[in-house]
Amino acid sequence: MEIQKCVIIGSGPAGYTAAIYAARANLKPVMYVGAEPGGQLMITTEVENYPGYPEGVQGPVMMEDFRKQAERFGTEIFYNVVTEVDFSGDVHTLKLDNGENIQAHTVIIATGASAKWLGLPSEKKFMNKGVSACAVCDGFFFKGQKVAVVGGGDTAAEEATYLSKMTPEVHLLVRRDEMRASKIMQDRVKKTENIKIHWNTEVTEVFGNGEVKGITVMNNQTKEVANLDVTGFFVAIGHKPNTEIFHNILDLDETGYILTKGKTTVTNIPGVFASGDAQDKKYRQAVTAAGTGCMAALDAESYLVEKGII
Ligand code: NAP
Repeated sequence: MEIQKCVIIGSGPAGYTAAIYAARANLKPVMYVGAEPGGQLMITTEVENYPGYPEGVQGPVMMEDFRKQAERFGTEIFYNVVTEVDFSGDVHTLKLDNGENIQAHTVIIATGASAKWLGLPSEKKFMNKGVSACAVCDGFFFKGQKVAVVGGGDTAAEEATYLSKMTPEVHLLVRRDEMRASKIMQDRVKKTENIKIHWNTEVTEVFGNGEVKGITVMNNQTKEVANLDVTGFFVAIGHKPNTEIFHNILDLDETGYILTKGKTTVTNIPGVFASGDAQDKKYRQAVTAAGTGCMAALDAESYLVEKGII
C-alpha cells in the first residue's frame, strides 16, 4: 500500500490552509473532508472579518475559494469520513467510512468543533435568520436591535458583553440561579446596564415570520411563561470538539480538545499534528484556524525532513 506523505482530516479553514502549504511544499497532501465538508463556515452567512474580503463574503463561498486554492496546488480531496485511527506505529493508519485503510507518514488533524444547540425545532428553522452561535461573526448584523443570549458560561458572558456594545438590550438567559462563568466575566455582565439577566430561565420557542421576531421563555421555578421581542438569538451553551476518534489515543484536555506542545501543532504522537478548533477553545475564528493549519503543514514538513522521508 502506498504511504502518503501527508493526510489531512477535515476541510474547514485549518484543513484547507494546511493543504495549500503542504501542497506547495510538494508533500502531495490527501484530504478527507469529513462529515461536514467546509466546516462551521458552511452554516455562516456573511463573513466580514476575514482579511482579504473587503466587501465580506458568504461562508460557503469562502470555503469554495479555499478548496479551489488547495486543489490548484495539487491537493487530492476525497469526500470520505475518517472513522478510526491507529497511531501506534511509525506509519499511521486511517480507516475510512468505505472500509478502506490509508497509510500516512504525517497526519494533520483539522476536524474542528461544533456548536452545541438547544435542540428546538424552531431554533433550527431560524438558523442564520436570526439564530446564531457566534456573536463575533454575526453580532454586527443586529446593530441597534434587541437580542438574547442563552447560556451561563464564559462564552455566553463574553457574547453578551460583546453584543451589549452594539445593541440597546441584551437578555441573558441562564437556566440555573447562578452562572458557571468565571467571576470576572460574571461581574462584567452584571455591571453592564443594558444586559438583563433572567435566572432559572429556559427557552421553549423561537418565533418569527421568515426571520426571528422573538422567543418564548419559561421560568423553571415559577413556570411563568413570557415572550421577549428580540430579533437576534445567540446560543452560547458551549462547543464540542470533533475529536471522538482520538480519545485514548491523543492527549486531550478534560473537554476533549487536543493538547499541542508549546506554540506548535505537535501532539503527543510523532507525525500527528493538530490545527484549528479541534485544539483551540479560546479564539475559534476562521483566521486563527487558518493560521494553525499553516503551522501544522510547516510542522509536518519539518518532521518529514528530520525523518529523512523527503
Ligand atoms: P461551558 O463552560 O460548558 O458553559 C456552558 C453553559 O451553557 C453553562 O452555563 C450551561 O449551564 C449552559 N447550558 C448547557 N446546556 C444548556 C441548555 N440545553 N440550555 C440552557 N443552558 C445550557 O461552555 P463555554 O461557556 O463555551 O466555555 C467552554 C470553555 O471555554 C470553558 O472552560 C470556558 O472557561 C472557556 N472559555 C474561556 C473564555 C475566556 O477565558 N475568555 C471565553 C469563552 C470560553 P449549566 O451551568 O447549568 O450547566
